[in-house]
Amino acid sequence: MQVTKFLAYLFFSAFIMVSCSDDDDSTPLSATSIPAENRQPLGSSSNDLLSSTNFTSLTVEMVSVQGFEPTITAVNAFKQFLEDRLFKPDGITINQRSIASSNLAPFTIEEIAEIENNNRSLFNAGDEITVYVYFADGSKSGDTNRQVTLGSAYRNTSIVIYEGTLRRLSTNPNAPMLNIIETATLNHEFAHLLGLVNIGTPLQSNHEDPENSGHCNVPNCLMEAAIEFESGMMNMGNTVPQLDAQCIADLQANGGR
Ligand SMILES: [Zn+2]
Ligand SMILES: [Zn+2]
Repeated sequence: MQVTKFLAYLFFSAFIMVSCSDDDDSTPLSATSIPAENRQPLGSSSNDLLSSTNFTSLTVEMVSVQGFEPTITAVNAFKQFLEDRLFKPDGITINQRSIASSNLAPFTIEEIAEIENNNRSLFNAGDEITVYVYFADGSKSGDTNRQVTLGSAYRNTSIVIYEGTLRRLSTNPNAPMLNIIETATLNHEFAHLLGLVNIGTPLQSNHEDPENSGHCNVPNCLMEAAIEFESGMMNMGNTVPQLDAQCIADLQANGGR
C-alpha cells in the first residue's frame, strides 16, 4: 500500500493544502534480502511496534543519501513522538548513516524497495523490532504540479521520505520550515506503521475519513488527509500537527501509550 500526499498550491488564497490518500493497487514488492517478518503488509506490525508484548525495544535505521539527511530538530521531534506513543522499556534508538546516491530519481516504489534490499542492515532480532526509513535524494515518480508525494509507508517496517521534494517545498516563501515538514511527514508515515487509521489498529470510534481510507476525519489531526496551513502560521513555521484524541485512543487500545 502506498501513501500519497497531494500538495496543491492555492496561490491567491496564500495557503498550502496537503492531503494524503492510500493507494491500494500497488504491485507486490520484490524482496531478496529482507527477512519475511520485515516485509509484511502495512499495519500488520502495529501491535508489535506499540506494545512491549513481543518486542521491548525499537531501533529505527535511518539511511540518507549524502546531503539529504534530515535536520537534527526533526529527528529529535520524531523520537519524542515515538517515546510518547510506544511502550519500549528497553529503549528507542535511532541509528543514522549516509550512503551514495542511487541516481535513480524520480523513484517508483519498486525502486525504493530495491534500494532497501541493497542497503537495509537491521532486522527484527530477539526482543528488538526494527524500522527502516530512507531519505531519498529526489521525488516520487509521477509527481505533478498539483500532486506531490512527501513520503510513503510501503511495508510493515519500511518508510521512504522524499527529502528532495521536502527541501524544494521548504524554499517556498509560504512554506513551513524544513524541520516542521520533515517532522510532520515522519510522524504521519510512522503512524501508518502503527496502524492508523483502521490499517491494522481497530477503530475505537468512527473517525475514519470515508473519502480517504486510512486517514482521520478530525480537523487538524496528524492523520487527516488534508491539512491547511494559514500563511501567517506558515511564516512562523513552528506547528507540527498532533494526533487527536480518537487516534490516540485507537493506539492505546492496541497496546500503545
Ligand atoms: Zn497518510
Ligand atoms: Zn485523528
